[in-house]
Amino acid sequence: MKVVSSDIVISAVKPEQYPDTEIPEFALAGRSNVGKSSFINKMLNRKGLARISSKPGKTQTLNFYLINEILHFVDVPGYGYAKVSKTERAAWGKMIETYFTTREQLRAVVLIVDLRHPPTSDDVMMYDFLKHYGIPCIIIATKADKIPRGKWQKHLKVTRETFELDQNDHIVLFSSETGEGKDQAWSILQSYM
Ligand code: GDP
Repeated sequence: MKVVSSDIVISAVKPEQYPDTEIPEFALAGRSNVGKSSFINKMLNRKGLARISSKPGKTQTLNFYLINEILHFVDVPGYGYAKVSKTERAAWGKMIETYFTTREQLRAVVLIVDLRHPPTSDDVMMYDFLKHYGIPCIIIATKADKIPRGKWQKHLKVTRETFELDQNDHIVLFSSETGEGKDQAWSILQSYM
């Protein structure tokens, strides 16, 4: 998809703040520092729309981006950052659980992982949570430029096996550095619209 416009609409915490529209939505989730902001910026051809490496774990809001006036990306605050208090973690859990389980516009969750390493236990927990609620999941294995091309398939296999990936779920090898996987990611997203 050719992105001609993208803008932040709202940073929301509560359902009353979610945009009151019917347009399809994709949430983006991932461990802090995994490359989620870079993924969003690459997909939208924007340099600094989603903030790159602002303090991990700090943004505790759901950030809604309107794209081409026809879909939303919803940036979910990263998980797995050690220096987050129990209270903050609980608030994060409640916010995303409410969003994931009640938002009818949500078509799929884009779960971003690091291709270089097997998914962490937090990644697997997130995936299992989505499966439990029957939410389609698109795995983006990013930072592919950091490993040699010849090892890509081996790493993808480890990722697939660690998640015990559902047949219906997609996995895309990605690099925000080179743009690898961008067209594939867009065509998968469009298939859910
Ligand atoms: P976030 O916390 O998940 O939003 O992660 P960021 O997008 O801020 O990325 C964390 C760090 O990884 C930054 O230094 C990025 O420049 C780097 N990074 C993100 N994606 C890639 C990628 O595909 N390739 C490479 N080489 N570096 C990346």
